[in-house]
Order: sequence, then C-alpha cells, then structure tokens
Amino acid sequence: MLDEIIIRDMEAFGYHGVLEEEKELGQKFLVSANIRLDASKAIKEDICEYTVDYGMVCKRISEIVSLERYDLIEALAGRIADMILLEFVPVKNVTIEVKKPWAPVKVSVDTVSVKIERGWHDVYIGVGSNMGDSLQNINDAMEMIQSDKRNKDIKVSDKIKTKPYGVKEQDDFINCAAYFKTIMQPKELLYFLQDIEKRLKRERIVHWGPRTIDLDILFYDNIILQDDELIIPHPEIIKRDFVLQPLCSINPHFVHPLYNRYVSELLNELKSKKDYEKTI
Ligand code: ATP
Ligand code: CA
Ligand code: CA
Repeated sequence: MLDEIIIRDMEAFGYHGVLEEEKELGQKFLVSANIRLDASKAIKEDICEYTVDYGMVCKRISEIVSLERYDLIEALAGRIADMILLEFVPVKNVTIEVKKPWAPVKVSVDTVSVKIERGWHDVYIGVGSNMGDSLQNINDAMEMIQSDKRNKDIKVSDKIKTKPYGVKEQDDFINCAAYFKTIMQPKELLYFLQDIEKRLKRERIVHWGPRTIDLDILFYDNIILQDDELIIPHPEIIKRDFVLQPLCSINPHFVHPLYNRYVSELLNELKSKKDYEKTI
C-alpha cells in the first residue's frame, strides 16, 4: 500500500490546444496530481528529505503549463507525469488530471479533462548475441538502456555461453538477463529495445537465426498481455534454460504470472523433463 500526496486543481495559464485561438490567446488549466510513495520514513522521522516537496512540484507543473506548448492535454499530462517521476525520486506512481475550464466546445460544460496514470515498472529482459563481438554488443546494449533517463536501477546477470536453439547451424550464443525499472509503457519499451537492436546492426533475415543482439521482454510487472506485436510474459520462457538460468541468478523468487511459480521452480521442472534440450 502506498501513501499519497494530493494536489487538487492547481491553476496555471498556458497556450495548449489544437485550435489557433487556443495557441494565440491561451487559457486557464487546472492540474491535479495524486503522487504515490512510501511515506513511512517521513512519518516516523518528520524530515522533509524522506518525502516530496509539494511546493516544488507545483512550481515545476506551473513552469511546464506556462512555458511549454502541446496540442493535446494528453501530451501535457504525460509530460507532467514523467517530470514528477524523474525529478522526485521517492515517487512510485502518479495520476495526473488536466482540466480545461474554458474548453472551446459549443455546448455548456463545467470542464473537459484528461486523466492518466504513470509509474515505475519492474522489467526483466532476455539478451542474446552470436554475431560480431558478442560481449561488446551486450555491454553496449546494457549501456544504452542504462543511459536513458526513463530507466533506472539496472541489474545484469552473469553472461553464459550457450548452444544455438531452434536453428542449430550457427555460432554459439552469449546470453544473459537484465532487470531494470522503467517509466515506459510496454509498447514504448518494445520500440525502445527494437531501436537499440537496430543501432547495433541487428538484421532480421532468418527467424531464430544469427543476430548481433536480441532483446526480448520477459516480464513487465506481473501483467499478461497479448497482441500482434507483443506477448508478455514472453511465451518461450519456460522452454529455455538460457533464459531461466540468468533470470534465477537475478531473482529466483520472481513469480511467473501465468504459472504462479517461482522462476527457480520452472528451471528445475524444465531440467527434469524427458525432452529437455540442454543449451548451457
Ligand atoms: P523469440 O521471440 O522466439 O525469442 P526472436 O527473438 O528471434 O524469437 P524476433 O525476430 O526478435 O524473434 O522478434 C519477432 C517479433 O516478436 C518482434 O517483431 C516483436 O514484435 C515480437 N514480440 C512479441 N512478444 C515480444 C516480447 N515479449 N519481446 C520482444 N519481442 C516480442
Ligand atoms: Ca529471442
Ligand atoms: Ca526478439
């Protein structure tokens, strides 16, 4: 259970909107923020540094509303949410509501508003490479993840040498897993990782074929998600020792949300199967 600091209907003048008159004349915006964090230390010690300075939050929101310009209040709300998560370290998640009391609609409304929730999420990824300087490729990919301010607290497992899986006629792989926290949404994270693959010259020629780098999202909190582009948890986890072993070395007690089992149990079960294809 998290504690909450609430700012309600903070007023600021800004120039956001799709219409020309909104961009020129400006209008009033009301911003509400529900800021969630663990305040138990602040409650016990009664010291500011263990919580969030809501005066400073208001000042930063006011700067963003009055100095920056967005067509959509969705974009404005997203910018405010990211700012709070990135600049105020104890914050775990936020709900931001941006209201337009003078929204240019031809009927009488009290306000029109957008409400979004954003937060830090726990992510595990699987990493593999069997082309070029594999160790260097993996280190470069980890550096690219770490150096993006939308990610933090990265932990990388030991790297292991493994036999190819699926398509056998190719060089051995180096595999590892990594954990980090991110404020990216699942699809945003997928595109971010695909961009790193591109920057490291990944080419998709043969499915399961050789690659300079492969970055798979294994888990994202404990969500279960499936569409044409993205499946979470990654569907092959339980069949792959080269994924489960590095995962176990980071957090053996992570619970797979579909099987409701520790990853360490899943690794032991895989190893005890008759058709177990050992790759490590
Ligand atoms: P595998 O996913 O079986 O390990 P692969 O990593 O070789 O195979 P890729 O060619 O890297 O497969 O990716 C194919 C597609 O998989 C991507 O374009 C992406 O949209 C999709 N995909 C689905 N779920 C995930 C996921 N959890 N992480 C990464 N990509 C995923
Ligand atoms: Ca893969
Ligand atoms: Ca992949």
